[in-house]
Amino acid sequence: MKKNSQSNKPVRIDCHCDTILEIATGTRSLGERSSRGHIDIPRLREGQISLQFFALYIESQFKPIGALERTLELIDTFYRELAENTSQLKLIKTFSDIEAAQEENKIGAFLTVEGGEAIQESLFLLRNLYRLGIRGITLTWNQRNAIADGASEGPHGGLSRFGLKVIEEMNSLGMLIDVSHMNRGGFFDVLNNSKMPVIASHSNARALCNHPRNLDDEQIVLLAEKKGIICVTFVPEFLVPVGSQADINSVADHIDYIKHLVGVDYIGIGSDFDGTEEVPAGLEDVTKVPHLEEVLRQRGYTEAELEKIFGGNVLRLLKRVIK
Ligand SMILES: [Zn+2]
Repeated sequence: MKKNSQSNKPVRIDCHCDTILEIATGTRSLGERSSRGHIDIPRLREGQISLQFFALYIESQFKPIGALERTLELIDTFYRELAENTSQLKLIKTFSDIEAAQEENKIGAFLTVEGGEAIQESLFLLRNLYRLGIRGITLTWNQRNAIADGASEGPHGGLSRFGLKVIEEMNSLGMLIDVSHMNRGGFFDVLNNSKMPVIASHSNARALCNHPRNLDDEQIVLLAEKKGIICVTFVPEFLVPVGSQADINSVADHIDYIKHLVGVDYIGIGSDFDGTEEVPAGLEDVTKVPHLEEVLRQRGYTEAELEKIFGGNVLRLLKRVIK
């Protein structure tokens, strides 16, 4: 586990939120504490998050024709927020930026795009998004796109020929491939073709909640075998069966389940804060994340295990994947 040499503070990472869209469409800003939504800088501080993945989520009305333009608009929103908060926030482009952010006591911002529609059918667009600071892509949302099929398209179908080229190019650029939202066929195609480990940035265990957005045991085992990580998400729909109420213990249940299946080294956290209106009781916003740690501690998790789940595992993955 990498620690800041000065403060000895572990890196705490949340691998998914849709906060930038909230900022682009509403009146909130990253720098000011709000009573609405789930994430802003003051609340990230309180929740002790040191590295936040900011997904740029493309709404369905912009797909496929306006997806690139919308993505560029969201990138602009992010950069304007970054300019307003330079003393608090640092864009992560290389692995050493993560260490620098820790040293400077800034929150690291890892930019990802949620939906491969942003690159249309062109690798040059992928490379240009990389140049703008994008370091990860969720290859699909729930629909089909030029890369692959999303989770709502049924289990069959997989990566297109273009999708295979995207995997290869992302591997060579040093971009993180995110398989959350893919259908089953596409998931296995990615796992069998990527030279680098991949992430499921916000998905849970299907054995506990049978939803197409969750991963079944076979998928979780393969993900772990290939040194990838499943980041447990707080969306109630993906935590408990329809009709049940999700709370903070439901999240801990998924972590327990995955730990017993593949061990503690392949688990992360991907809240989906600001991407979901419903949240589990006890995890109302990012300030409550330390409470989840406490719940796990009471279940017998060691400090070393908690450090892995709340950041260490993802840090290890990023060290290998991004440059
Ligand atoms: Zn999502």
